Amino acid sequence: MRLFECGTLVPGCEWHTRADNDAEIVRRAVEHMRETHGETIIRENMVDNIKARIVDEQAA
Ligand SMILES: [Zn+2]
Repeated sequence: MRLFECGTLVPGCEWHTRADNDAEIVRRAVEHMRETHGETIIRENMVDNIKARIVDEQAA
């Protein structure tokens, strides 16, 4: 499972998402950026920033 925590990009934000592929994580994260952080223009480097912060979540 892959995990993205918004707080790694936007300090203080508690939002996070899990998915089994990075494309789905990026899709959800971009949607979250728009809705919660008012990012109406998603820049190319934001997608890169999201991708750089997606981590493998170890199965318990
Ligand atoms: Zn956030």
